[in-house]
Amino acid sequence: MDPFRQYLDKKEKLISEYASGKVAFRLHKTTMTNLFRYGGNDARDRSGLRVDEFNQVIGIDPETATIDVEGMTTIETVLQATLRHNLLPKISPELKHITIGGAIVGIGIESSCFLHGFLHDSLIQAEVLLPGGETVICTADNEYADLFHALPNSFGTLGYVLRATLSLMHATQYVRLTNSNHENVSHYLESFEAHMDQPEGVFLEGLFYNRKELYLTSGKFIENARNPVNIYRGDPFYLKSRTATQLDMNTDDYIFRFDPDWFWNVPDHGVYNIFRQLSPRRFRNSSFYTHYTRLKRGLCDLLGIRNPTEEELIQDWVIPWHRAEEFIDFILDNIDIQGQPWVALPIVPKTRATLYPLLPSRSGSAIHEYRLLLFCRQTRSATGLPLHPDSGPTVF
Ligand SMILES: Cc1cc2nc3c(=O)[nH]c(=O)nc-3n(C[C@H](O)[C@H](O)[C@H](O)COP(=O)(O)OP(=O)(O)OC[C@H]3O[C@@H](n4cnc5c(N)ncnc54)[C@H](O)[C@@H]3O)c2cc1C
Repeated sequence: MDPFRQYLDKKEKLISEYASGKVAFRLHKTTMTNLFRYGGNDARDRSGLRVDEFNQVIGIDPETATIDVEGMTTIETVLQATLRHNLLPKISPELKHITIGGAIVGIGIESSCFLHGFLHDSLIQAEVLLPGGETVICTADNEYADLFHALPNSFGTLGYVLRATLSLMHATQYVRLTNSNHENVSHYLESFEAHMDQPEGVFLEGLFYNRKELYLTSGKFIENARNPVNIYRGDPFYLKSRTATQLDMNTDDYIFRFDPDWFWNVPDHGVYNIFRQLSPRRFRNSSFYTHYTRLKRGLCDLLGIRNPTEEELIQDWVIPWHRAEEFIDFILDNIDIQGQPWVALPIVPKTRATLYPLLPSRSGSAIHEYRLLLFCRQTRSATGLPLHPDSGPTVF
């Protein structure tokens, strides 16, 4: 059956289920959530709307480079479909099981953000199920434009995206990465600026460890690859890129480079390493990490060895570019992340979302005015973060 007809049927079924009054207006999905809530109140709540079936690509138009896709479709499914046409979402989240709808409302980012802004900046239209039980199609300038602009950072509070149309970029099957090391934070940031001024490729990202190891990686599409990297075996990707000056990758492996090890959170030593090297590939994905953390937490609870005041911290910061150097100095001086890398990801927003009101880029203005954001991620328990109210937060 025509995928759009199927979508209409699913939508009708969902709306009538909701109208029956037997289901709550909250998501019941079985794809992995990226909310690390352990109290059971998560997006898989069984009393909610059964939206799992909304997981198909409806259509791809190579002429206009656009995709029409159901809201709960994972980015993995999206990539499988678009790469057949040598197309790719302008921003493809690195974790395979993030859904398109989730990334629109939850701020999707990737190393192409310096060119294309956030994932929601490539949104053309969205069909949203509202709490009243009706659906509306919103665009940037139709009668539901206020909803359209308020979707990013709304996290499902305004309604659920059942279908979205997004613009795509042209791609090839392979990506070549070029990696350079810098030994000075100021030069490091200047090098980012030089790449943003005259992009040699479509991907730009930094991993840094200390003042002597500040790596900048740019990536471009290529037609043929030499020994593409295997992201599932051997060292986790961040270690592979730490030692190489050039790496070729399959395009989908590049996008999902951090997925098998959930960045660097699946331990890579001892028995875990045997698992990493030998387990079937279907276990080598970010959903495994979520299961792993739940299991670990459950076991520690059972054995009574979990300290309830301690929690693994997963933290992203969005920092204005002109404070980037100060911020990097601050974190390198104050926070110990036990030898693991920080991620620096320049983002140049294209629009100003109502609930995420960062200034969009202003082309033609002085360069420092439109380099807005540095994005840092630290994905492990850290010591030294001044988050406790007594120590007072440091505001950047
Ligand atoms: C630890 C962590 C790491 C992340 N890493 C990345 C990354 O590498 N790249 C990246 O781009 N983003 C990343 N994100 C952000 C991520 O894109 C958002 O959290 C996104 O919302 C996750 O989408 P999901 O499909 O997994 O949704 P879920 O985690 O299941 O849900 C997240 C929220 O979105 C709502 N929601 C889900 N689907 C819809 C829908 N169709 N319509 C309306 N609301 C919906 C849910 O109600 C919930 O409030 C990360 C987030 C976290 C917490």
